[in-house]
Amino acid sequence: MKISDVIVIGGGLAGFMAAAAAADNGQKVSLLTYGSGSLPLASGAIDILNSKAPDEAIKLVLENHPYKKIGLKNIDAAAKFFVDVTNKSDLHYVGRLSAQIPIVTAVGTLKYSCLVPESMDATNLADKKKIFVVEIKGLKDFYAAMIADNLKKYFPEKIFETAKLDLNLLGGRDITCMDAAQILTGNEQILADGLKTLNATEDDAIIIPPILGLEGNSSRAAVKSQLRAQIFETTCLPPSPPGIRLQRAFIKFLQSAGVRIFENSKVVRGVVEGKKVTGVVVENSVREKIFRAKKFILATGGFYSGGIVMREFDNPIEPIFDLPVFYPSGAEKWSNKNLFSDKPQNFSMTGIFTDENLNPIDGDGKVLFENLHVVGANLGGVDKIFERSAGGISIASAYKGAIL
Ligand SMILES: Cc1cc2nc3c(=O)[nH]c(=O)nc-3n(C[C@H](O)[C@H](O)[C@H](O)COP(=O)(O)OP(=O)(O)OC[C@H]3O[C@@H](n4cnc5c(N)ncnc54)[C@H](O)[C@@H]3O)c2cc1C
Repeated sequence: MKISDVIVIGGGLAGFMAAAAAADNGQKVSLLTYGSGSLPLASGAIDILNSKAPDEAIKLVLENHPYKKIGLKNIDAAAKFFVDVTNKSDLHYVGRLSAQIPIVTAVGTLKYSCLVPESMDATNLADKKKIFVVEIKGLKDFYAAMIADNLKKYFPEKIFETAKLDLNLLGGRDITCMDAAQILTGNEQILADGLKTLNATEDDAIIIPPILGLEGNSSRAAVKSQLRAQIFETTCLPPSPPGIRLQRAFIKFLQSAGVRIFENSKVVRGVVEGKKVTGVVVENSVREKIFRAKKFILATGGFYSGGIVMREFDNPIEPIFDLPVFYPSGAEKWSNKNLFSDKPQNFSMTGIFTDENLNPIDGDGKVLFENLHVVGANLGGVDKIFERSAGGISIASAYKGAIL
């Protein structure tokens, strides 16, 4: 039987990042996963922390915060490695820890994030004279007039113009951004021809839904080369082409780095000897199989993806290794009924606590498994959506877990 150096459990953002960093570090890596994780739903942007200077704010996080265990140096290295992976896969992200980059949302607000796809980086919008907002006939959930109206609040001095292009993408049927991006992959000329009718100049911007293909940067390059104006993609409702491009970019990187990816492989339990994990049991439709490695990375995605489950109230479970799960006990503490208030949701803090090596710990702080590292949405102690750190915690914990 082949024994890997590292087995990563879970193929979401954290699992991909961990596998990429471990492989880049010369390790023989296997990735076991089932389902698609949250990337196809996500905006594609990687939020590090809701602060003008996230690198400074990270220094102030509390003792239990995952960033405290990961350390600023590793978070910074993770951000650089992430950008590097996307460049090598021809996707191209921009950004760094010390500043936030604006992107235009599907409703025309600006969202700030540290690492964003180049196609969404709206920094230069401020320099444009005229902003065209373009909707596509039949494309659902994208309203040019609403986006223009909301953007005017940020850029009152700009001229806005809206347009609706009839590209006849699916014979006039209603389509999503995902459908449009799929159809336009390899057929970019349809979009380029439509956008040329705007007669936009180099002083102008064209804002479109995120439909520039599903693979890397090639569709964007094909359209961009034919236009004088700069084009900007917005976010969209799920499924999200930018999230899918990121997923595919990672898979491309992992394949070229020799990572063995086992899809439809649900890990059902660990094989342990004392404080060491020696293997994991995978269940597929035919039989159970044990995969062995020297080191294991648990990137199973918390509540969203089955990394933590709760079949009865007040009893959250980590189903593979039966790790202790931190949670705010008692129904009254569980949620904040005012959904859009300025307070976190306590249930979102549910997760596993670790030491600085990201090894899981019990209530007394004792390490449970020395060669198991917990990363991504499984980590407890913070509401990652509220403080806008979900992507950042995923990539940074994965990076540290992989290079230790
Ligand atoms: C709609 C939406 C929008 C988002 N937008 C943003 C954003 O704008 N900015 C940002 O920073 N973050 C955003 N995020 C969050 C970010 O995408 C997630 O934090 C991050 O992807 C979590 O990554 P993860 O790898 O830990 O978990 P996941 O992506 O959930 O991946 C976990 C993986 O593990 C697999 N798995 C689970 N159990 C097992 C098992 N037993 N055996 C094998 N595999 C298993 C799952 O199937 C899944 O593939 C968004 C998330 C969502 C859902």
